[in-house]
Amino acid sequence: MIYSFEKDSVEFDDFVAVLSDQSFDYEVIKRDKIVVRIFGRIDDALKHRLDQISGRVSKLTMKKGQEATVSRYWPTDDEKLFVAGPCSVESESQLDKTAGFLSGLGIKYLRGGAFKPRTNSNSFQGLGREGLRIMAKVASGHDMKVVTEVMDKSQLDDVVQYADIIQVGSRNMFNYSLLTALGAVDKPVLLKRGMAATIDEWAQASQYIIKGGNGRVILCERGIRTFEPRTRFTLDILAVPIAQKLTGLPVIVDVSHAAGERSLVPPLVGAALAAGADGIMVEVHPDPENALSDGLQSLTHDDFKSVFRQMQKAESTGKSTP
Ligand code: PEP
Ligand code: MN
Repeated sequence: MIYSFEKDSVEFDDFVAVLSDQSFDYEVIKRDKIVVRIFGRIDDALKHRLDQISGRVSKLTMKKGQEATVSRYWPTDDEKLFVAGPCSVESESQLDKTAGFLSGLGIKYLRGGAFKPRTNSNSFQGLGREGLRIMAKVASGHDMKVVTEVMDKSQLDDVVQYADIIQVGSRNMFNYSLLTALGAVDKPVLLKRGMAATIDEWAQASQYIIKGGNGRVILCERGIRTFEPRTRFTLDILAVPIAQKLTGLPVIVDVSHAAGERSLVPPLVGAALAAGADGIMVEVHPDPENALSDGLQSLTHDDFKSVFRQMQKAESTGKSTP
């Protein structure tokens, strides 16, 4: 069970005193908020007492078809959230080329991984902290915001410092310790769907962050594992309206990782926007043939121009609907 407190909360001390009294094991994460994760069996009487002390009101248990009572966070004045950039930050010049190109078109959110979850342990693992510094420098030089992934709690201090939106990757959607820690952070979180996660599991994963006190969650559908080998993943288009309704959260679509190959990206952009996605994430690289990760699915700058026209159309259509 997870409880959340404001940093200067007077109730927090009473709360942990009750837990200590009863010899409960618990974890306290103090960041912008305080999150308490309790281990052990909590009976109804104790739960009632803890709820009272913490002032916790909602139950927030997700049932099929039920809309959650989260107030929807939206990071931009724009109708849609468009996030573009390379899979990995490889160098300042690589990132600067793409950021300059994208910002020239009006894209405001720059993606790029500094900590990369790679299937093969011998593959490029990202530039780490140096990648974060490059990301922040390049983004601010082009007046863009940083979207970058945190893979582990141990990276959180660094990622929080540089990211405007913290990405949780598909492989970490089930990392409940990481999700719990993100509840204590005062930064928006982009929660990708696990490649083998049901929509309900994905929705419930978001509750770890929200219950921890961070309601600024955006979901990202990025394709799931099916029996179909012709694409890298199968984009689950209906997950968009279903997750929107189920959670009340915005849902964007990563069109690159499902496609696996750049020629398949434009149809997915069309499909995602037609399904009512709140935004698009797409990988773009100045020289995909020589990219250190996901080159095959990364768009060239020229490819991106036509995808961008699709996005612009959706923006203007979106605005005219009530
Ligand atoms: C990525 O965005 O580069 C990435 C690794 O995505 P995912 O977690 O969806 O595989
Ligand atoms: Mn990638």
